[in-house]
Amino acid sequence: MARLPSVTRRVEVTTWSNFPAVPGEIGVPFFAERVAQMNVIDTILQRNETFSKTDFNKDLKIVPSTKTMIIACVDSRVDPADIFGLKPGDAVVIRNVGGRVDPATLRTMGMLGAVTKASGGVLGTGWNLIVLHHTDCGIKPCLTHAPEMLATHLGVEPGSIDAGEINDPYKSIVSDVAALKANPKFPGGFLVTGIVYDVDTGKAEVVVPSALLRPE
Ligand SMILES: [Zn+2]
Repeated sequence: MARLPSVTRRVEVTTWSNFPAVPGEIGVPFFAERVAQMNVIDTILQRNETFSKTDFNKDLKIVPSTKTMIIACVDSRVDPADIFGLKPGDAVVIRNVGGRVDPATLRTMGMLGAVTKASGGVLGTGWNLIVLHHTDCGIKPCLTHAPEMLATHLGVEPGSIDAGEINDPYKSIVSDVAALKANPKFPGGFLVTGIVYDVDTGKAEVVVPSALLRPE
């Protein structure tokens, strides 16, 4: 009987720096994990096959039908498509850790202005801009485990992170909507709304009521 390789050592991954480029040992658990990974690919491709035959609509436009842009967290529990019942073509969604209005988000919003213009539209007046934060966000432990990376993510100096905002989505949502309103580079005609989603109840609450980004 072929001798099975020794059980592989599980590497605890806390940062990318200790993520092994090449697994040191290929053991039974490692193989089982690979099989499970491939099963996921098979599953999503099967679901796509169904989607392409049932819900796909080739007439969708680049400019979303609801003229809505949403900034949200990458957390798989808080996908705006799921919690707001969005369908393909309904809304533009920008996602990052925390759903924060960070430098990358601001750059993406700038690019979307150019994309919309190239598609014959105008970004701003008539558009909704929703910032969506949520309870139990995974950004919280970054305050302790990866403060420098978090500072870079937020575009602030290390040591000047507002811990209260990281720990409380009801504070961070107010801060991020205020940051958008204070940014003169974006069209004032956006109707901006700050929403917090509770992962314990599935309910979304408007925390910053809808208002124009800036009076025009
Ligand atoms: Zn989150």
